[in-house]
Amino acid sequence: MKFQSVRQQVVDMSVKLADHGYFAATGGNLALKVDDEHIVVTPSATDYYQMTAEDVCVLRLRDLAKVDGDRKPSVETGMHAKVLRIRADCRASIHTHQPIASACTLLGQPVPVSRAEDRALLGDEVRIVGYAPSGTSWLSSKLAKALRPDANAYLLRTHGAICCGTSAERALRAISALEALTRDYLRERIAARAAQSSPQQAALQRLLATLDAQPIQELVV
Ligand SMILES: [Zn+2]
Repeated sequence: MKFQSVRQQVVDMSVKLADHGYFAATGGNLALKVDDEHIVVTPSATDYYQMTAEDVCVLRLRDLAKVDGDRKPSVETGMHAKVLRIRADCRASIHTHQPIASACTLLGQPVPVSRAEDRALLGDEVRIVGYAPSGTSWLSSKLAKALRPDANAYLLRTHGAICCGTSAERALRAISALEALTRDYLRERIAARAAQSSPQQAALQRLLATLDAQPIQELVV
C-alpha cells in the first residue's frame, strides 16, 4: 500500500475529531499533503470508526487523479485541494461541522481574533465565506478567493468551518482554538443582547449557561 503511515495518520486524526464531536457521523473530512505532488484524503460517506488506512484515497494534487485506494474521495476534495495548492506552506486541511463554529456561521460575519496565541494559530480574523452548496466547485472557488497567506481558519456560511496548518498538529489545534474562539464570541454577543432585552433575558442566560457547560479540549496528535 502506498503511503501507509500518512494514510493511517488520516484515520487517527478522523477518530480523534469524531471523539471530540468535530466530525459527526460521516460529516467532516480532511486532507494531508504527502509531498509536493500527492495528497491523501478521507473517503466519501464513511463511518470514521470503521475506516482503515486502505480506505483513505491517494490523489495527485495537480488534477486529483486517483493514485491509490478503492473508495471514492470526499465530496469536499476540491476544497481541500484549493487550500493545499494555494497555501503551499500548508500540509493539512480539515473541514468540520463543529457545533459552535458552525452555529456562528449563521451570523454571516467575520470573527476577530484578539488573543496572541490564537492569532499565531488562526490569524487576525476568521473570515466568512459566502454560501454555496457542499461539494461544489462554486464553494471551493469562493473559499479560494477568501484564502489569505496569514489566515488559517475560515467559516463557511450556514455550513461549517475549514482550518489549515503547516502540520497536522497545527491544523488540529486550529480546529479546537476556533471552537473556543467562537464560543467566547457568541457568549459576548448573547451577554450584550441579554443586557438590553429583559423579556428574552432568561432564555439568553440559559443559552449562555449551555455554552459555558461545553468543555473544549485541545486536540493533540
Ligand atoms: Zn461540510
